[in-house]
Formats: sequence, C-alpha cells, structure tokens
Amino acid sequence: MNVNTAHKITQQLLAAGHTLAETDEDADVIIFNTCCVRNTAEQKILSHIALAKQLKQHKPDLKIAVIGCLSAKRKINGVDILLGTDNAMDVVEKLGVAVRQLPAEQGTTAYIDITYGCENYCTYCIVPFVRGKLRIRPRAEILTEFDQVKDTAKDIYLLGQNVNAYPDFPKLLEELAQKDGDFTLHFLSAHPKDFALETIKVMAKYPKIAHDVHLPMQCGCDKILKLMNRKYTVADYLEKIRLLREYMPDIHITTDIICGFPGETDEDFAETVRIVQQIKFSAAYIFPYSNRSGTAADKMPNQVPFRVRKARATKLVELMRELA
Ligand code: SF4
Repeated sequence: MNVNTAHKITQQLLAAGHTLAETDEDADVIIFNTCCVRNTAEQKILSHIALAKQLKQHKPDLKIAVIGCLSAKRKINGVDILLGTDNAMDVVEKLGVAVRQLPAEQGTTAYIDITYGCENYCTYCIVPFVRGKLRIRPRAEILTEFDQVKDTAKDIYLLGQNVNAYPDFPKLLEELAQKDGDFTLHFLSAHPKDFALETIKVMAKYPKIAHDVHLPMQCGCDKILKLMNRKYTVADYLEKIRLLREYMPDIHITTDIICGFPGETDEDFAETVRIVQQIKFSAAYIFPYSNRSGTAADKMPNQVPFRVRKARATKLVELMRELA
C-alpha cells in the first residue's frame, strides 16, 4: 500500500515537471512515506527525519513532508507537512502542485485499493489505530480504475489490509477476471478467517487470476492464536490450505509468522515449527514479535525476552530456507 501511495505521488510530481533528486542535499522537498507496523521501522524513519531536519537548518527553503502511519500515530515537530494515511495524497496539493488524471503506464504493475483500514484488532497490531476502521471503496471507483490500467498493466493487485472483508469479494474478483486484457490478477492480503471457499473456486476457474496467495498464519499454536485474537484455529487454517491445494495443485502459498508473542513457550513454538514443516510454504515473512504501544499484546503478561524471540525467528528462517 505504501509503495502504491509513494508511486502515485512520484508520478504526480514528475508530471508537474519536478525531477527526482539524486541525494537529500540536492532535494528541494523530502517526502517521508512512513510505516510504523514494527518498532524498528518507526525508529529508522525517526532518525532519517532527524537528519533531514539538520539539513533544513543549512537550507531553510527545504520542505519536509511526513505522511502515512507514523504521522497518524504521533506529532512530529519541525516538519512542514504532516498527513496521515487517509489524506497522504494531499501532499501533492500542499506542495502547490495541481493533481491530475494521469494516463496508465505501460508494462507495469498496477495496484488498486479496494478497502482501507481494518477493525480486526489482532492484539499485536497497530494498523486499526493508525489506518482507522474498515472502509470499503465504492465499487464504481474500483471498476473505473481497473478499466484505466487493464490494457497496459501486466499484473494488477487488489489491495486491502484484509481484502476478504470487501462485501462479496469473490463476485468482484470474478467480474474483474472476466474483463478483456492481457493481465494477471492478484490480491493482497487475505485474512484466513474470511477466506471463503467461493474465492478459492473463482481463483481456480479464471485463468487470469494468479495461483498465488498470501495467507498470514502468524502462528501454528491455538493458544497463541487465541491470544493474538486471530479468530481461527490451526485446524481451520490447515483446512484452507487443503482446499487451496485441492482446487489449485500449482498454488504458491506464502505467509507471515510472528515469533515470541507474549506467552509463547518453547512447546508452543515447537508447534509452529511442526506446522511450517507440514505445510511447506513457498515463502514466509518471519519476524520476532515487536511491541507496539497502545496494542493489547504490549500489556500482556509473560513477555518473551527479545533474544528468545530473535533466536526463534532465526531458527524458523533457517528451516524455511531448507524447505524452500
Ligand atoms: S487483520 Fe491484519 S491489519 Fe487487521 S488487525 Fe489483524 S494483523 Fe492488523
């Protein structure tokens, strides 16, 4: 989503005659499009912003804009423009550039937002607090944007924190997959609890839909899934995998896994290892649990020491390497 926003802002500024600066020192404007899903991302962006502010002391005309999650979460002093995720695109107008309708690009990947925000409140996740409650993008807007890109884009991604929360998502997918054009349709991300059999059937039926799915498992232990408020069990998850493979034997399944969530014991982690061995994902994004203040998990008892979280993540990464 952030890549998509950054790309659109860049295209608008380039169309208005601006150019990309080679270095920060050469820039008249520095735009930080931020993500604060993990603490390390937040700390990194804050140090980059601090460097830009130092630069501004020698170059007072330099404009600094901070947009995205981090600006929704905290006040950042000493910058010129501060915009949250909902109005991040307004940065273009705030820089004095008129927003225009741009032609679709050739041979690229196109991203189309279908939902914004999320209200699942997984206990580790800051997204509902920084991106707000679930909002559904009007169908007409999605169709118009799709028609603009379908003849030129090779890969079209439907985006949302939880695309399956889109009302009757299989129907939307089916409608788009029937359109003319030499494109492949993807969607990101899916929540296992809302991933319907109907979606699997539509994926299997239409050749324009890629046989790849990112289905964040987060953990392979029921006790921890409950603490995470994921609203599915390991058995539910395994059933989705079984159905995906039954309908599409060539499916590529990728996932996200958090290691060392509060309360996770060695035995709980061993269950995740066992499930990962069983499922054999095509790829997995594995992270040590990251505390985010304001989330329920941050206040949970039995926080796992950071070195243990890291050791577990390293072990799982090594296992994934072998399996892949
Ligand atoms: S579904 Fe995804 S975005 Fe929503 S709260 Fe859970 S982890 Fe965060």
